Amino acid sequence: MFDSVIIGAGVAGSVAARELAEAGKKVLVLEKREHIGGNCYDEKDEHGILLHKYGPHIFHTKEQRAYEYLSRFTKWYEFGHEVVANVHGTLIPVPFNLNTLHMVYEKEEADALEEKLVQAFGMGTRVPILKLREHEDPKIRQIADYVYENIFLHYTMKQWGQTPEEIDPAVTGRVPVLVSYDNRYFQEPWQGMPLEGYTPMFQAMLDHPGITVETGADARERLSFTEGQVLFDGALFTGEVIYTGPLDELFDCRFGRLPYRSLRFDFEYLEQEDYQGHSVVNYTVSEDFTRITEFKYLTGQKASGTTIVREYPFAYTGGPGEIPYYSIACEENQKLYERYKELLSGTPNVYLLGRLAEYKYYNIDAMVMKALELTDRIKGK
Ligand code: FAD
Ligand code: UDP
Repeated sequence: MFDSVIIGAGVAGSVAARELAEAGKKVLVLEKREHIGGNCYDEKDEHGILLHKYGPHIFHTKEQRAYEYLSRFTKWYEFGHEVVANVHGTLIPVPFNLNTLHMVYEKEEADALEEKLVQAFGMGTRVPILKLREHEDPKIRQIADYVYENIFLHYTMKQWGQTPEEIDPAVTGRVPVLVSYDNRYFQEPWQGMPLEGYTPMFQAMLDHPGITVETGADARERLSFTEGQVLFDGALFTGEVIYTGPLDELFDCRFGRLPYRSLRFDFEYLEQEDYQGHSVVNYTVSEDFTRITEFKYLTGQKASGTTIVREYPFAYTGGPGEIPYYSIACEENQKLYERYKELLSGTPNVYLLGRLAEYKYYNIDAMVMKALELTDRIKGK
């Protein structure tokens, strides 16, 4: 009855489903949660405030194809996302940039340090903090030490339970020091929010006569992968299967769980028009939570009250209700991942796609691109 089965209705699964359906295939999407959209899912709370149930999601990309693809299903509320860090009660722009430099140093010193940075790296460059710390010039290392101590060390300890040196350098490299006066968190040309929200965008994407979506449906109860074969509802299935969930769970975690970081989201509604005046405030030297998001500043919604969320990171254990959000990149975890992947090596037409199934730190736009590349390949077969 179905040509393709897709497991998971997040970005990866939804884009893939649409692409295969437009190529004439009959596609079944199985989603374990009661809703589509994966971690991008948004909904209005009981006070009518649009919130992101799994943490703030800002779309940003330099990939024209990803932007144009999603633009088929949504209009945009375009804005330049800015983040500030609360450092002992003072709010300073993050990523650390030349504006931040002039806020934390006296004018004369800031001018001299700015000149050093521009000379060393050039105006408009992006310098990872770990690289800045290794610089030969002690004055530049002085800036690096400030940034390390006040922006990265404590936040990273909370987020990952490890120091910036212990985690994959690509992670802190996502938020480099900017040798520019740009206060935006992202520098890509397209950034913003789906105008009506993420969930309507995914609804539009999945709204195709070739697509059937079942929510509240754990694929592990319908599919099994053994001895090079896929069984779907007990019968041999030879169409393509795209899996976007955690790979270890497909095999009952038989080699042990793949490690992830998880988050607890504490939402709070306040009967006041404004809480923090910013969409996101990172707590980089204090508190147990990493950041507070005030949703109305992300979505542009006007309302007399406001909803905020605090994020508390913890180590994922697979316990009830826990969600694996962040894969933890290191050699040991990659080896474990490869062991699981090996279990599918003799099974044709099964594809692993997504932040979980590929055990990789993808943004939304990268996920759109990966899904398009995979379905291009499948269609070209
Ligand atoms: P997911 O969204 O995780 O979707 C996978 C789906 O598979 C889930 O819905 C899951 O329920 C389902 N599933 C799993 N197992 C099964 C099963 N056995 N049966 C059926 N269904 C199953 N990216 C940005 O570009 N900008 C941001 O600002 C941003 N902020 C983020 C903030 C946080 C806190 C987090 C965690 C991520 C953020 N991201 C952001 C990344 C973004 O969430 C991901 O790129 C994107 O959601 C990945 O999509 P996906 O489809 O791979 O995964
Ligand atoms: N980071 C930090 N302080 C900040 C912002 C980021 O230490 O104020 C570090 C932290 O290790 C974080 C990483 O940089 O995990 C990447 O940040 P990003 O905002 O890209 O993380 P996301 O929430 O998007 O996964």
